[in-house]
Amino acid sequence: MKRVAVLTSGGDAPGMNAAIRSVIRCGVAKGWGMFGVKQGYAGLISGNIVEMGTRDVGGILQKGGTILGSARCAEFKTEEGRLKGIRALRQLGIDALVVIGGNGSQTGSYHLHKLDYPIVGIASTIDNDLYGSEMTIGVDTALNIALEAIDRLKVTASSHQRAFLLEVMGRNCGYIALMAGIAGGAEYIVIPEVESDPEEVAETLHLAYEHGKEHAIIVVAEGAKYNANALIEFFEKHRDRLGFKIRATILGHVQRGGEPGAFDRILASRLGNGAIEAVDRGEFGVLVGLNKGKITTTPLEEVVANKKEISMEMVELARKLD
Ligand code: ADP
Repeated sequence: MKRVAVLTSGGDAPGMNAAIRSVIRCGVAKGWGMFGVKQGYAGLISGNIVEMGTRDVGGILQKGGTILGSARCAEFKTEEGRLKGIRALRQLGIDALVVIGGNGSQTGSYHLHKLDYPIVGIASTIDNDLYGSEMTIGVDTALNIALEAIDRLKVTASSHQRAFLLEVMGRNCGYIALMAGIAGGAEYIVIPEVESDPEEVAETLHLAYEHGKEHAIIVVAEGAKYNANALIEFFEKHRDRLGFKIRATILGHVQRGGEPGAFDRILASRLGNGAIEAVDRGEFGVLVGLNKGKITTTPLEEVVANKKEISMEMVELARKLD
């Protein structure tokens, strides 16, 4: 009988609970002893680990956030910290650890793997910036929240012939901005991966106004050089040219807290099962992800060494549709 622990780390994402539930229940189905680590790597270091059964993960499938808690833990970036974590797991006779999280968290899990501890990662971040999984847990729900914001802003924008700048999450990755912009019919999308000229944004607004559009929506990823604040500052100096009155809305953490949609719940359930199957096969040091509709494993070494690229096909599509 194996003993396996699961933790959530880094930024929380809707669907993390569905992944915890799946890991615990798929492990229990194999007859294994299952454990949850509280507060991510911080709880691992302090040995905050509890045994969990099927009932402990009841009623959480539809909840946002993570019942295990998450933390950012600087000590885990040191080898000493990681060795403390491994000791805590070994003291409880735990054979393997499943880490649910994004880029930072999987870098941490890669370092644990290099210390020869059996690790399996599950791709979860609302930014969708993790190499090794086309979609990560939480992205779809966050995207729908951004889309709802665009739809609502359009209504008020039309009433007042206004332009709205909507800043969405995405530190280094414009995925949410690009997809929400396409789904919401934005006039312009500003993402970190593609250089944007504020003159061009201003010109787009001006043309939209001249063509008699009732509203204009610009979606901006927070990590873009010209984020909402930088663009507003630029527009202040060119107010007469724009036509529209312009307002900025920064969506911020509102995007994280939603109840996971069907896509994220199903993805999380599949990835949780995929992680338990990887543990069963003895396949460690890998990230479980979704690629071309299938649950796949990618070595963590590859995951941390590569950057996920934005789809230029989607960037081109957005340009055609604005
Ligand atoms: P995310 O997983 O959402 O990208 P973070 O970047 O905040 O979140 O990372 C979460 C945690 O992962 C950090 O607080 C730290 O404990 C651990 N971590 C991040 N980078 C490293 C690293 N280079 N080595 C070891 N652990 C790391």
